[in-house]
Amino acid sequence: MPARAAGETACPNPGALGTARVLSVDTTKGLEVGTKSYPQTLPLGPKEVVLTFDDGPIGKPTEQVLAALAAECVKATFFVVGEQAAAHPALLKRIAAAGHTIGHHSMTHPIMTGLGFEAGKADIERGWRTVDRILTGRDGDRPVTPFFRFPGFAPTPELAAWLKAKSIGTFGADLWGTDWQKTTPDALLRQVLDRLDKRGGGILLLHDIHAHTAAMVPALLAELKARGYRVVHIVPAGPVS
Ligand SMILES: [Zn+2]
Repeated sequence: MPARAAGETACPNPGALGTARVLSVDTTKGLEVGTKSYPQTLPLGPKEVVLTFDDGPIGKPTEQVLAALAAECVKATFFVVGEQAAAHPALLKRIAAAGHTIGHHSMTHPIMTGLGFEAGKADIERGWRTVDRILTGRDGDRPVTPFFRFPGFAPTPELAAWLKAKSIGTFGADLWGTDWQKTTPDALLRQVLDRLDKRGGGILLLHDIHAHTAAMVPALLAELKARGYRVVHIVPAGPVS
């Protein structure tokens, strides 16, 4: 039985999917993972899944996702948008308090390839500073959690080099549910499970801002358990600098 991290409590639901293991991710030398964008991904075994949710926090859908994860004692990573965090600070704090990892996804979600370097850098920095001020009161030149995902998976070489120099890891995905398009919970579930089964796991991207995604998550977690998938919770390696 692995030791539990500080603040983590035992799962009250013995039949839950649960979090199989915690993976410490070292970003000291930079990191670019997710085979949709990069040649490499995280060191995951067969049928291991990292759950990631982007673009929130935003009211009811995020709350529903949190409730579904809590019911199954599953930890995920939320790549939050700074202006959403500023609009929903209590919800941001709830995500963190539940033990999920808070990654960063810029302040206003611009597609960085359409911006100059300074404008892109400023938007990324404002994002993590806003989030960290709400969560910790800190306003640093590095985020407390050095995990970042480019809006629209659209990096620029200059911003990628800057993030690497700051020891901030960049996360793409290995697969996603195409939930930004009109869909239904059932259709989305079938799509995600089909892609998961084809790939055998990986970093999964969903968006916690959509009602159809939030409505699908409980069934997804049930199917992950039924199909023998194991959820991996990613956390930053080493002490916060
Ligand atoms: Zn996004």
